[in-house]
Order: sequence, then structure tokens, then C-alpha cells
Amino acid sequence: MTREEILSTFNIEASNPGAYAKEWLAPAESRELASLDPATGEVIATVLQADGATYERVAATAAEAFHTWRMVPAPKRGEVVHALGHALRAHKDALGRLVSLEMGKILAEGLGEVQEMIDMCDFAVGLSRQLYGLSMHSERARHRMYEQWHPLGPVGVISSFNFPVAVWSWNAALAAVCGNTVIWKPSSHTPLTALAVQHICNHVMARFEIDGVFNLVIGSGREVGQRLVDDPRVPLISFTGSTQQGRKVAASLAQRFGRSILELGGNNAIIVMPDANLDMAIRAVLFAAVGTAGQRCTSVRRLIVHEAVADRVVKSLLKVYRTVRIGDPLQRGTLMGPLVSEEAVADMMAALEQVRAQGGEILCGGKRLDRPGFFVEPTIVQAPKDLKIAEEETFAPVLYVYRVASLDEAIALQNSVKQGLSSALFTSNLFSAEAFLSPEGSDCGIANVNIGTSGAEIGGAFGGEKETGWGREAGSDSWKQYMRRQTCTVNWSSDLPLAQGVRFDLD
Ligand code: NAD
Repeated sequence: MTREEILSTFNIEASNPGAYAKEWLAPAESRELASLDPATGEVIATVLQADGATYERVAATAAEAFHTWRMVPAPKRGEVVHALGHALRAHKDALGRLVSLEMGKILAEGLGEVQEMIDMCDFAVGLSRQLYGLSMHSERARHRMYEQWHPLGPVGVISSFNFPVAVWSWNAALAAVCGNTVIWKPSSHTPLTALAVQHICNHVMARFEIDGVFNLVIGSGREVGQRLVDDPRVPLISFTGSTQQGRKVAASLAQRFGRSILELGGNNAIIVMPDANLDMAIRAVLFAAVGTAGQRCTSVRRLIVHEAVADRVVKSLLKVYRTVRIGDPLQRGTLMGPLVSEEAVADMMAALEQVRAQGGEILCGGKRLDRPGFFVEPTIVQAPKDLKIAEEETFAPVLYVYRVASLDEAIALQNSVKQGLSSALFTSNLFSAEAFLSPEGSDCGIANVNIGTSGAEIGGAFGGEKETGWGREAGSDSWKQYMRRQTCTVNWSSDLPLAQGVRFDLD
């Protein structure tokens, strides 16, 4: 597929309106946002960013559509999401390619991201018949007590660049079957993939003769994102992005008692013990550190190796790092594409300056590639235990290696950072595995044994602890966050007994 074919599949022109609510909306005055191909640095196309009036149209449409959508039976809402899953299947190849083109992840990962959207739709369709509440036994005779779950309202989804379409689907598929409408504010690095998904949604909505369920508003985080966060019509904001921005979003939402799902930065570790299958561990570290050029929230940033096997592990990693093919993400055989932007390259280089100043030793990589686009070398750093820069998330393929003498020391080091998203242990010892998974083990939202830190399945609830934020997305009972719980008691007797035996009689 050529670039022109990819773009024309989704009606993407050289310049495009950047908001949709029943129709495509362009602001009164032109506010262009250029989407760059990170593999060349060239403009792919531009999008007209929303102004205040455009945002208002989108929010008002989503709020109005909610009144109808919430009364559609959940299994019928599931039929719409079912059709969305089918439409995504039909467009998997083109959308996966567009993800790679605009964001820079390799095609296998671009396609994987669209598969994740399809899986989420399938999961949500099943859920649409399982939005269960509990029933309780009332202490009062002839009383029925139970809880039920109602939709919330328009749900705001603010997404990061690194999963430009999957993050939307984690939220939108669940929010929609739960009876909410959705307002999506995508990352300014990836507006074109958002346009493409909106086109797919529009076909589906037209087929079911509905509108206002899936809405889009593109603009900067500071302006449009903040409007969404401050909008009292929007009871829940699901925010995926950096801890720095998430902290501001959380504070704004707290002011208005808005609900939040915060999926923020990670600083994930893999621990390797001497009894581990080292081949498996090396492969897992490679995928988690180099995959998506280190731009996954779950990318491994810290490798904590037992000193008995540290030399072997580092030697093997240095060998495989040399074979990583870096280049055009759409080219078959490429394992690592570019970083997303010029600033991302600058951030990585600044972090490596800190590494040198703080006593870290760069074992391989560390440089920008001498070619157009935002390419860098995957980098391994031998880290002293107190390397300050390693306590922060640098969104790039930089792996810090630590040597430890015991599992206890490894777990303490892993848990010593402020973030708490994903963690992994490689061992064949049952006692070590269970210790890692116990309450005094990993403090992260995700803890894996003999699996790397990245590449979660959608069936589990996804999310982190500490400065990674709170809330869970995707599987398990994450759907509950998109609904409000109501406890109902019905008296079908002709008495009015009070709870706890309280008597409040007139005579
Ligand atoms: P970012 O924080 O720069 O931007 C994320 C989104 O927030 C964008 O859409 C941006 O426009 C918007 N935004 C920025 N300021 C805002 C504000 N004041 N109000 C409302 N919206 C605002 O993050 P990024 O660079 O796009 O993504 C990378 C970060 O996301 C990394 O830290 C990564 O770990 C994190 N991430 C976390 C998860 C997770 O599930 N925990 C998943 C993916 C990415």
C-alpha cells in the first residue's frame, strides 16, 4: 500500500477539519496542526484544530446524544460496538499502516495495536450482556435490596501519542456499551490516526442511524484538553499521558469532583535471577526495551540482574543489540523505528548527559543516527545504584542495568521509584515467584513471572500505582468505572419498618 493509498482509505486530504460531532467541523479561523512522519521529519498532512466554539459544539452534541443513548438497552449498544469491531477488522491493514506512518512504531506493532482495538470491541460486546449488579438480603421483611449500574454521561478520553488508537478503544468500547457517549481528544502528534478512526465510527453510526455517540475534538492539551477536563458536563475523564500533565489534570478534576482514570508514566523493571531461563529473559528484555523504540508506558527501563549471571546477561544483550535493524517502520525486517519527535530525541540526549554526569557508563548506543527523521540507537547503561536520572521515565530506548546480590535487594530496588506500572521476574524457583507476587513483593499494578513488562492482554485490568496514577482500563471489572452504582431498596409490604430496628412512631 502506498502512502497515498493509506491516506485516501480514510479520506485524509492535505488539510482536514479536526473535529466531528454529527458532521465535520472546522474552526472559524485557521489553526493548523501539522502531522509529521517521524521517519523523515516531513509533513504528512495538516489538521485544523478546534477553537472554543468548535469544542462547545462537540461537547453539546455528546451531552445531548447521551440522553438517547443511555436508554438504548445495553445488548443493543453492544450490537453497535460489534459492528465497530467488524469495521476495524476490515480496515486493520490500512489503519495499522497509518499508525506506523504517523507514530513510527513498526508495522507488526501497528497491526497489533489495531488487533487490540478489535479485541476490545469483542470484549465489550460480551460485557454488554453482563453489566451485573449484586442483590443483597434485606434485614426488613418483604423488602428487596439490590444494586444496579447506570451510565455516567459523556466520557472524555485524552490519549497519548504512543498508542494513538488502542487507548481510545480501551475506553470508548467500554464507555459505549455502558451507555455513555465519548469525546476524544487525541495527542497532537497523532491527529491523522484519530481522523481515520472517526471515519470508521461514522460509517458504523450511520448504519445504525445514530449520532453523537463517538465524537472527536483535536487541539492542544493546554487549550482543548483543559476545556474538556474543566467541563462539568463530562463526569469522567480518562487521561493517558505523562505524570507531569496527569498531575495537573487530577488537580483540576478534584476541584469539580470529576472522576478520573489516570494512566501515567512508568519506570518498569525486569529482575533476572540465576535460576532463570536466560534465553527467554534476554528475548523478553529486548522486546520490552527496544520495542516501540522504548516508547511504551510498559517499556522496561531498569534491568536488575543477580550478580551471579550479570556478566552473561549483559554480554548477550550487547550481542543482540548489535543486530537490531533500525529504519523505516513500514519496511519488513525493521525492529526499531524512530522516536516520535525532535523533542523526544533531545530528551533522550539530555538524559544521557545526566547519565555521564552522575557516574553511569554507556555500554552501547547513545547516539542519534545520521539520517533524516528522529532515529536513535538503542542504549544500555551500566548504572550505579544511586543513578538519579534512572528514577525518571525517559521515553526512549535507554536500559539501565543494575547488579544485585539477592531477590530481596532486587525487589527493594525495583520498588524504590515513584512510578508503579509494570514489573517482571525471571526465575524457575517457585518460592522466588510467589515472594515477588506477595504483598511484600512487587508494588506495581502489573506483576509478571517469566514474561516481560510490556505487551499486556486486554482481558486483565490494566493500570498502575503510585505516580502512574490510578484507575484500571480494559478487562476484568474495569467497566465499573464507566458507570455509577445505585443501591435500591423496594418495600413490598404494607409496613414501614426502619433499618437497625429504629422506632419512630407518632404514638
Ligand atoms: P503527554 O502528557 O505529553 O500528553 C498526553 C495527552 O494529554 C495529549 O493528548 C496532550 O495533548 C494532553 N494534555 C497535555 N496537557 C494537558 C492538560 N493540561 N489538560 C488536558 N490534556 C492535556 O504524554 P505523551 O507524550 O503523549 O505520552 C507519553 C506518556 O504517556 C508517557 O509518560 C507514558 O508512560 C504515558 N502513557 C501511560 C500509559 C499507561 O497506561 N500508564 C499508556 C500510554 C502512555
